[in-house]
Amino acid sequence: MSEKFVTRGIVLRETQTKESDKILTILTAERGRIAVIARGARRKNSRIAAASELLAYSELVLYERGNWMMLDEASTLELWKSVRGDVELLSLGSYFAEMAEAVTGEGESADAILALLLNSLYALDKLDKPQELVKAAFELRLLSLAGYEPLVSDCAVCGAEAPESPLLDVNEGVVVCAACAGAATGNMLRLDPGALAAMRHVVRSEPKRMLSFLLSGDTLARFSDACEAFALAQLDRSFRTLDFYKSLRSRGAFPGKSCE
Ligand SMILES: [Zn+2]
Repeated sequence: MSEKFVTRGIVLRETQTKESDKILTILTAERGRIAVIARGARRKNSRIAAASELLAYSELVLYERGNWMMLDEASTLELWKSVRGDVELLSLGSYFAEMAEAVTGEGESADAILALLLNSLYALDKLDKPQELVKAAFELRLLSLAGYEPLVSDCAVCGAEAPESPLLDVNEGVVVCAACAGAATGNMLRLDPGALAAMRHVVRSEPKRMLSFLLSGDTLARFSDACEAFALAQLDRSFRTLDFYKSLRSRGAFPGKSCE
């Protein structure tokens, strides 16, 4: 057995393996994304069971064996009880985890992305912030941290700082005014001044202040649609967890939803 080391990390994915083990994909600050074998994590009374759940944030004692990292001990720091108790919030949290996995590499330091993930889950779990707002801010900030920061300061064509009827070109990651967009046929989403201001804030703010704004109505809808479309276009893929989250949301929009 190699020397043990201690790190803090959040479970992005759990895969059940033979017998009672799990393979965990964990995001840590210092070592980025790591794959860890949690032996016996599915066994009743396992001391590492709680820390081996999706989204569990824990202090972990690990050691290396061959090419693998093994989980030796864990003490949970945050299990996000409210998120875990709500199927919609849990599916949104799972989407955050899948996205974080998609933009991080094994062994690359990921402290800013880890902090973003923890702050976003905290906002859902403890602050009761609107889901659309937290989701959109997470998508935009994550993409910015991963190197896809959009140019939202002024119109990419004429340079206007306050573009009239601004549009986001989700493929190019730039903002243009309606007049400059002209006959452009790219994937353009209509913003409004409030949605554009929110995008600027999310890209530039101090990490702790990222969610210190409120939007509602059409402005929130535009901000939310733009951030999601931008993230999916830039990463050029879909997310199974996002599809599931959206299927729950659309079901909830109908009056037949159970209310217990
Ligand atoms: Zn312009």
